[in-house]
Amino acid sequence: MSIRQEVLFKIKSVELDKVKNPKKVSSYFAENTFGIETMRRHISPGTFAAFKAWMSEGKIITLEQANEIANAMKNWAIAKGASYYTHWFQPMTGLTAEKHDSFISITGPGKVIEKFSGNKLIQGEPDASSFPSGGIRATFEARGYTAWDPSSPAFIIESKLGKTLCIPSIFISYHGEALDKKLPLLRSDEALNKSALGLLRLFGRKDVKKVFSTCGPEQEYFLIDKYYYDLRQDLVMAGRTLIGAPSPKGQQLEDQYFGTIKERVVNFMFEVAQEAYKLGIPLMTRHNEVAPHQYEFAPIFEESNLAADHNQLLMELMKKIALRHGLVCLLHEKPFAGINGSGKHLNWSLADDKGNNLLNPGQTPEDNLQFLAVLAAVLRAVHLHADLLRASVAMAGNEHRLGANEAPPAIISVFLGQQLTSILNMIEKGVKSKVSKGDIIDLGMDRLPKFNKDTTDRNRTSPFAFTGTKFEFRAVGSSQNISTPITVINTIIAESLDYVAEKIRKASGGKNFNSAALKVISAIARETKKIRFEGNNYAEEWVKEAGKRSLPNVAATYASLKDLTKEKNIALFEKYKVFSKEELIARYHIWIHMYNLTLEIEANTLKEMVNASVVPAGYEYEKLLAATLHELVSLKKSSGLKLDAAALKDKKEHLSDIIAKIYYVRRNTLAMGRLLERARKMNNEKRAQLYFQELRPLMEHIRKHVDQLECVVSDDAWDLPKYREMLFIK
Ligand code: ADP
Ligand code: MG
Repeated sequence: MSIRQEVLFKIKSVELDKVKNPKKVSSYFAENTFGIETMRRHISPGTFAAFKAWMSEGKIITLEQANEIANAMKNWAIAKGASYYTHWFQPMTGLTAEKHDSFISITGPGKVIEKFSGNKLIQGEPDASSFPSGGIRATFEARGYTAWDPSSPAFIIESKLGKTLCIPSIFISYHGEALDKKLPLLRSDEALNKSALGLLRLFGRKDVKKVFSTCGPEQEYFLIDKYYYDLRQDLVMAGRTLIGAPSPKGQQLEDQYFGTIKERVVNFMFEVAQEAYKLGIPLMTRHNEVAPHQYEFAPIFEESNLAADHNQLLMELMKKIALRHGLVCLLHEKPFAGINGSGKHLNWSLADDKGNNLLNPGQTPEDNLQFLAVLAAVLRAVHLHADLLRASVAMAGNEHRLGANEAPPAIISVFLGQQLTSILNMIEKGVKSKVSKGDIIDLGMDRLPKFNKDTTDRNRTSPFAFTGTKFEFRAVGSSQNISTPITVINTIIAESLDYVAEKIRKASGGKNFNSAALKVISAIARETKKIRFEGNNYAEEWVKEAGKRSLPNVAATYASLKDLTKEKNIALFEKYKVFSKEELIARYHIWIHMYNLTLEIEANTLKEMVNASVVPAGYEYEKLLAATLHELVSLKKSSGLKLDAAALKDKKEHLSDIIAKIYYVRRNTLAMGRLLERARKMNNEKRAQLYFQELRPLMEHIRKHVDQLECVVSDDAWDLPKYREMLFIK
């Protein structure tokens, strides 16, 4: 029996104590966070007012006030059982990082007290020389600083033996350059705020003080049994299977989507939700996804900065809690070939401090006009900067997903739905015509469109789709930190909001505002036609059609990342103070490097699996075949055993076939070794190109032959868990 077969008997749910009366979520929601209400209860009214002013108007608090908040935060955390604190930050690897310090401070021989100062709250200094900086910091000046981000509440992470206070932070170099994912996001929200306010003022909205982006990321993931996971080097090393024959039953019956959730999985989901609620993460939806053993969590949307922190925390919770249930949570974009991969649909919109969603069509024609102006800005942004949107999701994992036929293609287009499309067409033509009942009531004098807000039609294949009151960017990878895509969306839209405002200002010249606005919207509707697509984005015809429209279709990560360094993009990010040129180029280098490292890990893992698992299993089977053949032939000779000629021929062919397959696999694996050797002499850009153009196809080729072997080699000799087991045994 193979190890794989032995493991089969161990697979079962963990024993859980039944919870008789689960607590109401509202009774413990956010109990482990030092949110604004908790802060208010723990500090003086003066300091609290100062903190609020800092948040709304940017007036920084004094050191005494910071000391008071630090002390309050410490007391609160210690009362909850925390003994350590950490500045929690998001370096450019896309993961989160923490370096823990104890609260203790020595007061005399053998005596300590718990202490936490404002200085320590505001700033930390991890010895951070190993985080990627893309050349921003030389190692000799490797100091990186973490600085408290007061817009995201501190929280407590629990483990079995203790609790840690985590302080959301940004991570910067000695000279103040962003070394993380969060500072650019905060900067982009600031840019968006300014530009959106500019436009709103034009529309007479003087009451609004602040505009910010909102985000609700839908998180897809797989769960598989930990016994299987541990037997798959590829899942452990690379997060995805590098080999594995398709299961006879995949997702073709679509019997999993929204199906009954198995008890084992639902228990996992309950625990994740419970832990998430304690941290103030507003999880809302949970369901089965399309592929077997694929699931989704979606939260209620929040301010982007918070949503990004919460999504990072959620991914960590999911991984941690899965283990408690004997499961492993796979966040890779394409853990299994041939079935759906996982994405993270990024729902994005703009909100003001009065509680309005700026992408919500309004009740009155005037509101609708403002909505259309914002919509036009979005269209223009995507039209001009599709390359940046694509680059914001460029990474090794997502390369398997974008363009595969279950995921949005690498071609960026916008879906608006029938109603909005006809409204835009009408504005463009400036004619009065009925679209459908209730859509357009009045296109009279000022030609103000009136329409209902329930634009319910959906297109599940569009990479950038309008879904009623928000846009949904579907090309984001499931493992990605969402900060970068949000940063890009915020920045490109800030620029277009400025453009729209400026155009309307010029066109109206102080009078006839509505017509001027309509004129600008109409021009944008006309100019952006080529990125609007309402059909099936997965279809081959769309690729052709997009080619005709000369829309870029950048499949390779290296090529897409290169777009970050274009003149126009550097200028854009510099203008909006989101990235300096140096910061942007640094990111380009880091992400190319990460791509290469990912592929090298994959290739080396594949090499080991082929040499140490696949080929030996093949030899084992070869030996079995050769021995039987040998025995039969000698029996024929010694005892005159009657052997059917055709049967004998078949046996020989089968053996030859196995020998040939093993040979192919070995030959290509050796070629892969040589390719990796060759790559070592190349710089990162060349290397990434080589990996995309040659290494990836070679790995696919090896895989094809390995998968054929898997289907013929004796089940007893095959130690690697198979797709049909990992995906269907629950
Ligand atoms: P859909 O049916 O289009 O998927 P849902 O209402 O189920 O829409 O929402 C999907 C996700 O979009 C949820 O996470 C939700 O919180 C988020 N969302 C809804 N409105 C907004 C908004 N204004 N801004 C950002 N995200 C939003
Ligand atoms: Mg979804």
